[in-house]
Amino acid sequence: MRNHTQISEPPQYYDKEGDDIVSKREWLLCPVCGCKTRDRIRADTELKNFPLFCPKCKHETLINVSKLNITLITEPAAIGAEP
Ligand SMILES: [Zn+2]
Repeated sequence: MRNHTQISEPPQYYDKEGDDIVSKREWLLCPVCGCKTRDRIRADTELKNFPLFCPKCKHETLINVSKLNITLITEPAAIGAEP
């Protein structure tokens, strides 16, 4: 009876994989043109009223980020209509 169990992965790879869950990063996409911006978020990033600037279309968009969920903020009060 032969038992051929070959594990080709070195133990260090497991460490790397475990870390990857926390250090997972995603590029923020511009809500206007859909291009990648220069900002990245992590799985545990929390942003509130973050001014996301797009280098492609030069638009600035306010967003909230929570657990990789990006919410676009439309703020009519920001236009500055003060009586
Ligand atoms: Zn854009």
